[in-house]
Amino acid sequence: MLRGEGVLKKQVIVSHSGGRLLGRVDYPTIAMFALIAVVTIVGVPLFGFIYGYTWFDWALFGVFYVVTGLGITVGYHRLISHQSFTCPHWVRACFLIAGGWALENSALKWCSDHVRHHAKVDQDEDPYNAKLGFWHSHLTWIFRKSPYSTDKYTAIFKKDPLIMWQHRYYVPILVSGLLLPSVLGMIYRGWVGAVSAFLLASVFRVFLVLNSTFCINSICHMLGDQPYGDANSSRNSWWVSLVTFGEGYHNYHHTYPRDYRNGPIWYNFDPSKWLIFALSIVGLAKLQPTQT
Ligand SMILES: [Zn+2]
Ligand SMILES: [Zn+2]
Repeated sequence: MLRGEGVLKKQVIVSHSGGRLLGRVDYPTIAMFALIAVVTIVGVPLFGFIYGYTWFDWALFGVFYVVTGLGITVGYHRLISHQSFTCPHWVRACFLIAGGWALENSALKWCSDHVRHHAKVDQDEDPYNAKLGFWHSHLTWIFRKSPYSTDKYTAIFKKDPLIMWQHRYYVPILVSGLLLPSVLGMIYRGWVGAVSAFLLASVFRVFLVLNSTFCINSICHMLGDQPYGDANSSRNSWWVSLVTFGEGYHNYHHTYPRDYRNGPIWYNFDPSKWLIFALSIVGLAKLQPTQT
């Protein structure tokens, strides 16, 4: 056992593996992810076999997949973490709510982890260090509380009242996103509709959006080419963009993190950049200079 020093949190006791510090195991998070996986793999098909899903359930699934996925890629990632554009408070609030519905933690936690990933990429302090293998970078990094202090990375976000508002009310925001499909499903076809909408547009949707985000941390640091440099493990995997709203051009993103585009070429499949650009056209976003 080691006690903290330097960047290490003093109150956290950690074990170490091969010189790498390991935080405490986060059992509640493991239990929650296990429950989501079991319901997705067993409960969703079983319910569909017995009761069936309607076009309304699938429509809710599609809408919530797109809204929460863009909440992460445009809101948490390109707006808050990298400040690649600015927008009015009410638009920021919408993105923070949509991102909060994705069950990927508050923006304060997500964005400080992400800034640390860029600052310490491929090193021990990188929260989803791909050098530690596919499963660590994809999923299991979440199952331990980080032994490294995040103070340096949270400081800038803590000055933002809107980010702190979302952090304070993260749980009610998250729950509202999980229950909203059920309320709409209940209106459409009663209790069966409430359950079917919850299973598809809440649980299954959360499972897929989580894994699409995880693919950026794992696949996009392992598979693909490196046209913008090999200073770190980031790679362009255009096909990952198909399920991540354009985040697959990760080698470009690590080279130009302040660019609101991840796919800089016009034909790159990057719906997040199209949304940000569309917002700028109607005066709801101001783009930062690209490639800085
Ligand atoms: Zn990365
Ligand atoms: Zn980034």
